[in-house]
Amino acid sequence: MGDGEPLFKRVAIIGLGLIGGSLASAIRQHRLAGQVVGYDRRAEELALGEELGVIDVAAESLEQAVRGSDLVVLAVPVRATRAVLAELKPFLDSDTVLSDVGSTKSSFVADVEAVFGELSPHVIPGHPIAGSEKSGIRAANPELFANHKVILTPADNAHQPDVERLRALWEGCGATVLTMSVAYHDEVLAATSHLPHLIAFSLVDTLAGEDENMDIFRYAAGGFRDFTRIAASDPVMWHDIFLSNRDAVLRVIDHFTHDLDQLRSAIAAGDGAMLLRVFSRAKAAREHFTKMLSGQAYVTNNSEKQVTFQLQPGGSIRGDIRVPGDKSMSHRSIMLGALAEGITEVKGFLEGEDSLATLQAFRDMGVTIEGPEDGFVRIHGVGMHGLQAPRGPLYLGNSGTAMRLFAGLLAAQPFDSELTGDASLSKRPMGRVADPLRAMGAVIDTAEGGRPPLKIRGGHKLTGIHYEMPVASAQVKSCLLLAGLYAEGVTSVTEPAPTRDHTERMLVGFGYHVHRDGATASVTGGGKLTACAIDVPADISSAAFFLVAGSIAPASELVLRHVGMNPTRVGVINILRQMGADIEVLEEREIGGEPVADLRVRSAELKGIDIPEEQVPLAIDEFPVLFIAATCAQGRTVLRGAEELRVKESDRIQVMADGLAALGVETTVTPDGIIIDGGQDIGGGTVNSHGDHRIAMSFAVASLRANGPIEITDCANVATSFPSFVELAQQTGIQIRTEGGE
Ligand code: NAP
Repeated sequence: MGDGEPLFKRVAIIGLGLIGGSLASAIRQHRLAGQVVGYDRRAEELALGEELGVIDVAAESLEQAVRGSDLVVLAVPVRATRAVLAELKPFLDSDTVLSDVGSTKSSFVADVEAVFGELSPHVIPGHPIAGSEKSGIRAANPELFANHKVILTPADNAHQPDVERLRALWEGCGATVLTMSVAYHDEVLAATSHLPHLIAFSLVDTLAGEDENMDIFRYAAGGFRDFTRIAASDPVMWHDIFLSNRDAVLRVIDHFTHDLDQLRSAIAAGDGAMLLRVFSRAKAAREHFTKMLSGQAYVTNNSEKQVTFQLQPGGSIRGDIRVPGDKSMSHRSIMLGALAEGITEVKGFLEGEDSLATLQAFRDMGVTIEGPEDGFVRIHGVGMHGLQAPRGPLYLGNSGTAMRLFAGLLAAQPFDSELTGDASLSKRPMGRVADPLRAMGAVIDTAEGGRPPLKIRGGHKLTGIHYEMPVASAQVKSCLLLAGLYAEGVTSVTEPAPTRDHTERMLVGFGYHVHRDGATASVTGGGKLTACAIDVPADISSAAFFLVAGSIAPASELVLRHVGMNPTRVGVINILRQMGADIEVLEEREIGGEPVADLRVRSAELKGIDIPEEQVPLAIDEFPVLFIAATCAQGRTVLRGAEELRVKESDRIQVMADGLAALGVETTVTPDGIIIDGGQDIGGGTVNSHGDHRIAMSFAVASLRANGPIEITDCANVATSFPSFVELAQQTGIQIRTEGGE
């Protein structure tokens, strides 16, 4: 197709009402066809169509409309379809594309087959998911389909170039086009559109029948108005839809009636737990359904928005703060709380990607979870064997951790399950967990290359294994230990290098014995978890920015409360202390199996060191800000053995080196680390954080010792990983301001 050549030469729209009229005028407005011909059985509508500029030409007969058109779209009521098809049949060329806009699709296909005896490859049924309570051509609106979905339901033998042209036509009208099977379309629409309309009609009718004056509506609040808005839709059209989508509608009505009955019984029996379970699951589903449908991550991705940090140089750090809760612990608290006996209350919960995905998945498996509300979550544990089969796939957003941990847990359940994720998670290989789980007896299918979705067959007995992890991974270890809770005998995992042990510790916190022997952790299956209270420790990775800030800024003294001091995470403290930092550990205590302490940091003269390689894995996330500490120290700091830093959210070594260079600080990048000669002046300038939250926050800390203003670009992701960073930075003395974002 050449430039400017329309998609179709002549489009005939049969039925010039709301939908037909809107489509005709959108096609004209966007010049998607050479000519738009309209036909309606009402002469005055037709004349109006021409007068209003909705169509180019008003056809006097169906024959005139159809002959010579390369696309014919039926936009008549569903019940009129068969008669109109029979009438136009003699005039339709064999290669003319025939489509429609009807709200039900099996009925259209049945009508075509009844009239033509077969479904030709040029028949492509369609359904725009757009409309209004109005009807008729006066309501026609060329913008009706903009930013709405249009579903096409081509058969397997459909002529693909026709499908593509029709898709382009609807896209040209501003719509997003989806394709699916006729049967699936009718099921989905029965559930999401037809049933809600039926309920709205029925409810309003029930209430209107209660008293003749309809006085009852005087007392109805806004909620009632919102909920029943669709009861004002066209009764004729809707009676059509229910009759023509009969089977799918009956199935969903039965399902709904059954669930409504269960709610009725729960109310009658005073079963508050059941009500709470259903309502909290529904509330969460309502909040997330848009995201689920579009396959986006759970946490709104801020990276589209341009956020810039502006920093003034200098300042001291003072105060007493608590940074947000640890991500790994928030996440695991939901998992173990759900499987425990009793109610687990969690404070300081971080609403991260992993935790929110996990929370929703457990709700889908029948666990009642209240919150999160200001960091508080209450989980009504169902016990090790209390999970229920989810109704559909469990959607885990962008959380690789959740997917790997769930694989272990679900492999041991009596029911089948399927784990899916967003586009980026769907590209990540899951073989690392699927293979050892299969060795335990699990039955797991993956997509090509071991990628999600993971289809897990339930009802298979697992047997404990000993697994030597080829690559150190806390996710793989946790996955196998969770499966091991259900396996016969002992499951043990040996790691080639230390990884985070939050799962093991929290299992202990929930009363499950974990045996640890050097690099090996093991559990014996068949035990139980007991609910507990968890005050999630503040994340040491977030605290690290303030530990460095308090060390490098003159005249500083800062207390950081309730910081998680897991030995696999405290590398940053060990390294800073070795550099001469003044960090005091106060009030050591244990929460949910994890050591916790308050930390006091004061300004100190730091000196450069060779960072001990055994500390590298224990501080892997904290290196960006440690590079700032090294820049402010006297002497040379050398980092080796940190190849992993190159494959984090960004190549953290290179991006930090580039950022430092932009501020006039020279460094030497090596294949597995960096050499930084301290004592260089940090100048002002612009640093690109490449969307890496830790890089952005590190350069914000650098401003304390800079001699000019620093601008840091691409900082939107900070709000996701550390929502209160800017506020806490301002409160303690960093002169930061954000531009852009909300
Ligand atoms: P509408 O405004 O009532 O328009 C239908 C038009 O078709 C009317 O002008 C009607 O004339 C005419 N018509 C009826 N029988 C005909 C026949 N035998 N020959 C020629 N013209 C005939 O309805 P609409 O809302 O546009 O709905 C049209 C189709 O779109 C329906 O299949 C509906 O399921 C589908 N749809 C509607 C919506 C929505 O929200 N409205 C959304 C998506 C899809 P009369 O007035 O004389 O009957």
